[in-house]
Amino acid sequence: MVDYDLHIHSCFSDGVFEPEEIFDIAKKNGLKGLAITDHDTINALPLCEQLSIKYSLNFIPGIELSTEYNNMEIHILGYYLDYNNKELTSILEGMRLDRINRIKKMLLKLNTLGYDISLSDICNEPGADLYGNAIGRPHVARALIKKGYFRNMSEVFNSLLGDGKPAFVDRFKLNTVEGINLIKKYNGIPVLAHAGLIKIGEKQLDDLIKIFSNNGLMGLEIYHSEHREYISYYLTKLANKYKLLVTGGSDFHSPGSPNSSSKEISIGYRGVPELEVNRMKSFINKLREEKNGTI
Ligand code: AMP
Ligand code: ZN
Ligand code: FE
Ligand code: FE
Repeated sequence: MVDYDLHIHSCFSDGVFEPEEIFDIAKKNGLKGLAITDHDTINALPLCEQLSIKYSLNFIPGIELSTEYNNMEIHILGYYLDYNNKELTSILEGMRLDRINRIKKMLLKLNTLGYDISLSDICNEPGADLYGNAIGRPHVARALIKKGYFRNMSEVFNSLLGDGKPAFVDRFKLNTVEGINLIKKYNGIPVLAHAGLIKIGEKQLDDLIKIFSNNGLMGLEIYHSEHREYISYYLTKLANKYKLLVTGGSDFHSPGSPNSSSKEISIGYRGVPELEVNRMKSFINKLREEKNGTI
């Protein structure tokens, strides 16, 4: 049973909904709680704290950090981190500004390739406000679709924006171990996101999770919209093997147009029962007590 969806993007990164719309849908879909996990930003979280009271939903602060390990893009979710911490906010602000510069470079490439698109076209997309939101390739993709160049997200990524494609520009990414440590430093629980999407074999995935666990990883995202059942089963075995917490979520970005497949994904499509959230909470409480030297 899904009580909590622990992986949702708002328009503070590349989702299309405002946090309030997300809370509203989560309530209608019968969830007990949710986590907003925007890419490289915690700017939505203070507002979410207020919304959780308004909608009587439990709220778990989150983030999804983009990191890199041996040339692989690895996403690390961070739960319960201190989102009011000034130092953390300023580190993430640097990453956000880098995203804006990178989008400008992508625009230059697109214009050279003959696409008539400007920064203001992109800023018309939800969440593409340059002052507080983490803009990314999906904003560019949506603007190109709106202009009639493409029919859907997959088409744009496959022909232009995907890694190594003609308009692709890389952006700054932390090393995965640095990312794990960053989340830990600000009292969060680092969790490996959608491990089933990493393009390596089962044995290499086991080795990778072993390395990350030895470097502070505390959880594994078992349930995800793009994880087939046998993948979740295999990941559960790895979570047991390395004594990792279990998390799950939809990775919802927008209605009807999920990341890379064609199935309809909604808020609460994937997630975890309350039991797993309680485990996370006791874990974080124990960590905090240890840090404060009270036990
Ligand atoms: P960025 O963070 O700007 O590099 O953009 C990465 C985001 O683009 C991912 O989190 C997905 O939301 C989206 N994305 C990546 N690949 C695809 C794809 N093939 N089709 C649709 N969306 C994608
Ligand atoms: Zn995304
Ligand atoms: Fe991700
Ligand atoms: Fe995500």
